[in-house]
Amino acid sequence: MADAHVSGGCLCGTVRFSVTLPTLFCGHCHCSMCRRSHGAAFVTWFAVPRNQVEWVSGQSQLRRYASSDHGTRSFCGRCGSSLFCESSKHPDQIDIVLANMEGPIDRPPQVHVYFDDRASWAIAEDSLPRLGGSTGLEKMRTHP
Ligand SMILES: [Zn+2]
Ligand SMILES: [Zn+2]
Repeated sequence: MADAHVSGGCLCGTVRFSVTLPTLFCGHCHCSMCRRSHGAAFVTWFAVPRNQVEWVSGQSQLRRYASSDHGTRSFCGRCGSSLFCESSKHPDQIDIVLANMEGPIDRPPQVHVYFDDRASWAIAEDSLPRLGGSTGLEKMRTHP
């Protein structure tokens, strides 16, 4: 495992990168911004320290969008695949969309975050912890 890499990229193949394991985190985000930027019920992210991401191609094609006062999302300027989310709250790490990876990472999704913000039609029947509240990471009193 010491030198495990997983490749990833966008739909059109312009943006390509390689991630060195281990990861820090993996979870499903149900926030409204993820939902809208992906056109999906929720988005599964994982995080790694920034220095564990290596560019293969297309870095200049990345387009960046400041989706909040601390968060920036980036996507391929050619095909629109959503790729990364960065936060000034955690400047040393980068969130990466799990669906864009070409192989398994070192952990399964561990948690649902912003769960109380979820779409009414999103169904989660697993037994993973569900976090919510204003930070999206607080324990929820009930598991609806
Ligand atoms: Zn692309
Ligand atoms: Zn989100």
